[in-house]
Amino acid sequence: MTVIPLSNRNRSDRLADSAAPRLVTELPGPRAREWIERDAAVASPSLGRVYPLVPARGDGLVIEDVDGNRYLDFNAGIAVTSTGHCHPRVVEAIERQSHALLHYCSSDWYIPSYIELCEGLADCAPAGMGATRTFLANSGTEAVEGAIKLARQHTGRPNVIAFHGAFHGRSLGSLALTASKARYRGGFGAMMPGVFHAPYGESGEIERTILTHLTPPSDVAAIFVEPIQGEGGYVIPPAGWLAELRALCDEHGILLVADEVQSGVGRTGRMWAVDHEGIAPDLLLVGKGIASGLPLAAIVARDEIMQWEAGAHGSTFGGNPVACEAALATLDLVEHGDQGVPLVDNARDVGAHLLAGLERMTDGHASVPGVHGRGLMIGVDFIDHDTAYAVEQECFRRGLLVLTCGVRTVRLAPPLVVTREQADQAVAILDDAVAAVEHTER
Ligand code: PLP
Repeated sequence: MTVIPLSNRNRSDRLADSAAPRLVTELPGPRAREWIERDAAVASPSLGRVYPLVPARGDGLVIEDVDGNRYLDFNAGIAVTSTGHCHPRVVEAIERQSHALLHYCSSDWYIPSYIELCEGLADCAPAGMGATRTFLANSGTEAVEGAIKLARQHTGRPNVIAFHGAFHGRSLGSLALTASKARYRGGFGAMMPGVFHAPYGESGEIERTILTHLTPPSDVAAIFVEPIQGEGGYVIPPAGWLAELRALCDEHGILLVADEVQSGVGRTGRMWAVDHEGIAPDLLLVGKGIASGLPLAAIVARDEIMQWEAGAHGSTFGGNPVACEAALATLDLVEHGDQGVPLVDNARDVGAHLLAGLERMTDGHASVPGVHGRGLMIGVDFIDHDTAYAVEQECFRRGLLVLTCGVRTVRLAPPLVVTREQADQAVAILDDAVAAVEHTER
């Protein structure tokens, strides 16, 4: 397949303007099948492929696979391509930087776009964090690892608290915090010690169980919390619960770490999910959507906390100049838009429209007990895991890309450029997919 460089494209080349879904082969198509066969021989079987999608190019909300089938993407590569696939402004920033400088290790030297991104994150950090400092990494799990180190060193305390259903990553430190699916931890031996888990969203549980029976608060460095659980099922905690955590941390000198790797950068209709509750964390973890698809993550910390010594933490690739330029373009689009609505506002407006459409849809389906969400982080609950899985597969067959999470939820996390028409289209396809599954189950 010939991919036309963006600078040479005219409007008729833009996938974003084409009708999607448009399925031209059976799924998977012949080229996709060839790739899947080759993959099976050489790629790590730990990769848990959910359906046979082999994407070749993307534009806005549209993904085209290697056989020319076009899909409406309500995954955004798992909440990553926040500005839509290959947003011209992001691609232009990447192209420009690629011709100037691909890499120079930012742990040892100064990269202007690294500095600009730290400034940008300081400007948009949750109100109440005060002055911030930022460390840039390559992935969410690295941000979590760095945050564990910083919290332990800053407080001089060994333990951390996380929650049932949490997902913080898969490297050995973050994996000790992750508690969404037992199979993520199975067979890997002892986890990092000093991690305690409490039920998510339940008032008073940390004091009643962990701080009473398991560890004194004076040994706890940090509480790691997703303000909305992602992988765990797109769970929104009860109003006031995050404020309770904040107060508990203040009482005992524990750091509050908001893991906004999935919920951040405008996805929930506010810049950060904690903004909905008016909470200021001590550390804010950013990843996924921050650079529209390039690997980048960040630990944003209150200035007085990020005071570790030179050499205490670093990374060869973290804060790579190309990724930083993509992130600067992304932040600008999310906060200010592209001669139009800021994407954070679009996420709020279209998200509310989508949620309302889904709520209407649930009325007609006994297998859908409810929907929940904020902005473009929306979960559709099903009666059981098998039904959620079957609906995900039926959506794929109809050209809509969605993904399950939690035990029995299908998540909708489209790029923030999604339109109301595309939201309506997704609801119609989902409705059809649910009807097909219900019909089969009957
Ligand atoms: N934290 C949260 C809330 C996440 O959703 C994820 C990934 O899904 C991670 C951390 C880990 O990010 P990564 O896969 O980039 O390591």
